[in-house]
This record gives sequence, structure tokens and C-alpha cells, in this order.
Amino acid sequence: MAERFYVNCPLRPGLVELRSSEAHHLAVVSRLRSGDVVRLFNGDGHEYPARVVDVLRRSVSLEGLGVESPARELDFRLEVAAPLPKGDRAQFLIEKLTELGVTSFVPLQTQRSIVHPRETRLDKLQRHVIEASKQCGRNLLMTVASLTTWEAYCRREDVQGLKVLAHPRKDDELAISLADLQGSLAGAEVIHVAVGPEGGFAADEIAPAAYGGWTLVDLGPRTLRIETAAMLLAGWAVAAR
Ligand code: SAH
Repeated sequence: MAERFYVNCPLRPGLVELRSSEAHHLAVVSRLRSGDVVRLFNGDGHEYPARVVDVLRRSVSLEGLGVESPARELDFRLEVAAPLPKGDRAQFLIEKLTELGVTSFVPLQTQRSIVHPRETRLDKLQRHVIEASKQCGRNLLMTVASLTTWEAYCRREDVQGLKVLAHPRKDDELAISLADLQGSLAGAEVIHVAVGPEGGFAADEIAPAAYGGWTLVDLGPRTLRIETAAMLLAGWAVAAR
């Protein structure tokens, strides 16, 4: 597959002129030359094969050769809500959820989560989404919401559909197993997955969620990291279709 480039502008067949950092990336980092064919995407759901026409110091012009709409999205909405793990693990989580086809990610603030403002910077998180989309071929970008408290998230009226909350059974005998969840995952059009912080959800965060229609799911006898639990649940939802 030709190298993919994200550009932050409307695209269509015909002449496309890129400036600033995008042009720099094509010209200097990727060392493209006139005649090279690349694939441009901007998150509108399509990709645009294009031939490089001219590479100048501050701009690159390309000729859009067409519009393609490969089917690379899930056929249901999948939202993952979780506290951001620390450092590189936040990038890892965003990258893997993008690859799995997750529709949206909501960074959660819970009673026991430690929030690192730098990690929650939306532009930084969006950058990881774009990098992962370049590699995995997605033409729709996973959206990243702003930091949301678990309490507010539970009250949101648009959080409807199948709602699955990872919670170890030792803390709550109500939790079902992943195998028991399979049937409901297969039929759902919208799935919400929530994972707690490293310190776990507090009891008074779990009770309202259970009343609010969240299904508690146990992921086995080992304590998983936030990103492992999120990837396992998202992957299970993807595989159940
Ligand atoms: N210290 C906590 C574990 C937190 S792990 C405790 O001992 O309970 C971070 C989050 O990952 C948890 O809040 C939960 O949502 C999810 N998680 C990790 N391991 C899990 C398991 N075995 N079953 C269900 N959820 C799990």
C-alpha cells in the first residue's frame, strides 16, 4: 500500500496544495519526489490516492487521482471510557483502541484516578489517533472526548445501548463472565465499555452504575492494567460480531 498521509484540509480529486508542517513531512521526513504516489486522508471516511507533482521548500503540490472508500470501520458504535494510564501507556491505549476500530474514547476522572494534565491534552491524544490511523488504514478518526467525571458520564443521556463495566468479581458478586456477555454483544448496535483506575472504582461509584443499567463483567482472576482491560473488552466486542 502506498504511504498514507493525514492532511487537515478538505480533499477531492484534482490539484491539492499542502503547506507548513504537512508539506514539511512529505518533503523532508518522507523524502517524496515528484511522480511518487501516496494516499491522503483527512478523517472524512475516504482516502485519496494522489501523485506528487512538485516539491518546493515550503509547499508540496499533488494531483488527486480519485476517491476510495474502503470498508474499514465497525458496523456498530463502540465507545470506551477509562482513566488515562500514566506516560507511554496512555499512547499505547489510544493507539490500540484506534486499531481495534473504537468509535470514541472518553478519558475518565474517577475518585481514585490520578490525573496528569499533560497526558489529557486533547491535541496530544488526537496526534496518537492520527498516527495509528495512518498505520492501520482507518479513514474515520476515533474521537477523543475531554476529561469527564465518572459521575457525569453515568448521568449522560446519550450513553445508551449495551453498557459494560469491567469490575473484578471479588469486589462484587454480580459481575458476570466474558463468556456470558457474548450473546448481548453480538446483537448490540451501540456498546459502551468502561474501565476503572489502577486503584479500582470506589463502592459508591459501582452501586449507581449497576442501578443505571451497566452490566458488571469480571475479566478473570488476575488484576489487569487499565489498558489491558480496555483492549480485552473492546477486542471481545469486535470479535463477537
Ligand atoms: N486495584 C483494583 C484493580 C484495578 S485495575 C482492584 O484490586 O480491584 C484497573 C481497572 O481495570 C479496574 O477498575 C477494572 O475496571 C479493570 N480490571 C482489571 N482487572 C480486572 C478483572 N480481573 N476483572 C474485571 N475488571 C478488571
